[in-house]
Amino acid sequence: MRGATTSGDHSTFGGELRRNPVSGRLTIVAPERAARPSDLHAAEVAGAAGPCPFCAGNEGLTPPETEAVRPRGSAPDAPGWRIRVVPNKYPALAGRHEVIVHSPQHDAELEDLGDDGLLEVLEVWRRRIAAQMGTGAAAATLIVNRGPGAGASLEHPHAQLFGTPVVPPLLLDELLEFERFSNRFGGCVLCAEIDGAGERLVHDGDVAAWVPAATRFPGEVWLAPKAHEPDVRSADLRPLAGALRRALVAVDTATGGAPLNLWLHTAPAELRGVFHWHVELAPRLSSIAGLELGADIALVTVDPEAAAEALRAAWPQG
Ligand SMILES: [Zn+2]
Ligand SMILES: [Zn+2]
Ligand SMILES: [Zn+2]
Repeated sequence: MRGATTSGDHSTFGGELRRNPVSGRLTIVAPERAARPSDLHAAEVAGAAGPCPFCAGNEGLTPPETEAVRPRGSAPDAPGWRIRVVPNKYPALAGRHEVIVHSPQHDAELEDLGDDGLLEVLEVWRRRIAAQMGTGAAAATLIVNRGPGAGASLEHPHAQLFGTPVVPPLLLDELLEFERFSNRFGGCVLCAEIDGAGERLVHDGDVAAWVPAATRFPGEVWLAPKAHEPDVRSADLRPLAGALRRALVAVDTATGGAPLNLWLHTAPAELRGVFHWHVELAPRLSSIAGLELGADIALVTVDPEAAAEALRAAWPQG
């Protein structure tokens, strides 16, 4: 598999990507990650946590920074930065697992940064996605885990970027659906989803927000540019900043601060066919159970139209 090793690799180990030949499912086996610190877990167990590696002043606790947004002339790996990108100290995939810390402040969530601050963060996300795909990754998956119930091990808010040597199965599934729709009806299935969202539309703008008819998670919301666009690398990120900030506030309000996963799906490095980039917000009000795991069928108890109404009511006007 190409791209399994990379240059600019600060990490000395990383997981191994394996495929179950019966199910076709992929697993990254990364036992070193079990040794990583977890302030959330530590706080639960011992009521105390070590110094936060993502706070200003603790730069020495992470590998050297890959890049940072900091005043001209300020030294790398020292305070002064606004956004800092470091290789994951316990990478799932060597050289392909980055951490993007979007604020030196320990409790600053993405929506606390304001539209301009969030735009600056989105520009870093895009630059790192481009860097991963420009150095051989087949695809780049950007994710945010918020809260221990969503898999976050460190409290300080951050995003993680995974460059993978293969196109991940979920993105591959989506690409197949885009192709099917395009062959049958012509055009883009996601453009058609936005057009047909009706009362599931949460926000109308250059970037639309809507609740899919078949949600996997209660309170789930998707964001995408209304004008068809395959690749976030060529996107106008300003409307995304405004819509994403409001969506995060609305989801947090509507779900009572539920743990949250967020991910960005953009076209793979080599796109053949149709795709339309989007962001999915997945509040984790219920845990994944047997039917989801054994049949890959989601079971939700919230009506998507009602969920959309609640999100519209919680959507900040300012
Ligand atoms: Zn911190
Ligand atoms: Zn489209
Ligand atoms: Zn998707």
